[in-house]
Amino acid sequence: MRELSKRTENFTDSVIRRMTRISLQHGAINLSQGFPDFDPPKEITDRLKEVADKGPHQYALTWGAQNFREALAKKQEHFSGMKVDPDKEIVVTCGSTEAMMASMMSIVNPGDKVAVFSPFYENYGADAILSGAEPIYIPLVPPAFSFDPNLLEDAFKKGAKALILCNPSNPCGKVFTKEELEIIAKLAIQYDCYVITDEVYEHIIYEPYQHTYLATLPGMRERTIICNSLSKTYSITGWRLGYVIASPEIVERVKKVHDFLTVGAAAPLMEAAVTGLNFPDEYYRDLQAHYTHMKELFTGGLKQLGFSYTEPQGAYYVLMDVSEFGVTDDVAFCEWLAKEVGVGAVPGSSFFKEDVHNYIRFHFAKKDETLHAALDNLERLRSKAKTR
Ligand code: GLN
Repeated sequence: MRELSKRTENFTDSVIRRMTRISLQHGAINLSQGFPDFDPPKEITDRLKEVADKGPHQYALTWGAQNFREALAKKQEHFSGMKVDPDKEIVVTCGSTEAMMASMMSIVNPGDKVAVFSPFYENYGADAILSGAEPIYIPLVPPAFSFDPNLLEDAFKKGAKALILCNPSNPCGKVFTKEELEIIAKLAIQYDCYVITDEVYEHIIYEPYQHTYLATLPGMRERTIICNSLSKTYSITGWRLGYVIASPEIVERVKKVHDFLTVGAAAPLMEAAVTGLNFPDEYYRDLQAHYTHMKELFTGGLKQLGFSYTEPQGAYYVLMDVSEFGVTDDVAFCEWLAKEVGVGAVPGSSFFKEDVHNYIRFHFAKKDETLHAALDNLERLRSKAKTR
């Protein structure tokens, strides 16, 4: 047989999703792949039941149903102050995964350089390969996950055409400060670069941190491509509703890429999710309070057990430092952890470009009982590790 494509021959499967399969296989409490085990808001699922009877069931407009884009534009303006034209500046995609891929394909030519902060969400590596981009990694240095602006400037000097910015950040829970974003903006403008943002955790922020929308900084609106989704904000990761917000020139291109990649997001799900986009402020306050509770329960438990971790400022993950277990192979450690301790986690090395093997990532968007059960299992980690 002829060989398969060169472009994809070095692909590994997603470590995050592999850890979900391994957790299932061993009956471990799965704190690896980030998705809630609690229900979405009832108003949204009630609306979905009505939609099942009344439709729509056929294709929506390829760049997203009109009412969905209008509700998105209104919500974006409400939280960021940005005015967004729902016809010219939004494309609805199948999750932010497609939003990111379509953005990369719209901006990058094979061989172009793209700057990426490391640790990074693993999909960006695959996005770079699929679009032919050559990533230049800029370390976010633990424990504060700060970056050296000179290294960022070096990436731009080497010709990076775009920067991928995940804020709030998966996996490290960093929320970029306004000052840091101003540094990024200044360099992006100076070197005439695009910034593709992944802002899926925009509403999952812990006090006193605040989310700043990069696109709202002077000069950034026309060079920022926002990728986002409803997955985390409304606990509907399986609905695959994402979107791109950018200038009309960029969106016109993304619309075409999206059209040929997937045609469109699911029409009945868009219709039902409009209910969520129209929620009052109270919903987002409650969401924040709920996440703060889950974060405190889980990280408080880790602290009590004497484990070392980085306090998340946003998003729903915590990186635990497993140096005390002498871990050199974090992948093997996570497989062992799922099998012997009964908790699924993601090996940190799948997020770091650097040679870092002392972190594992837990996510905590889970019911109290799930988090308590995971902590109960983790209580046995040290004694089990002695016989490892
Ligand atoms: N963003 C989530 C994570 O990092 C889920 C990823 C996925 O499987 N799509 O775990």
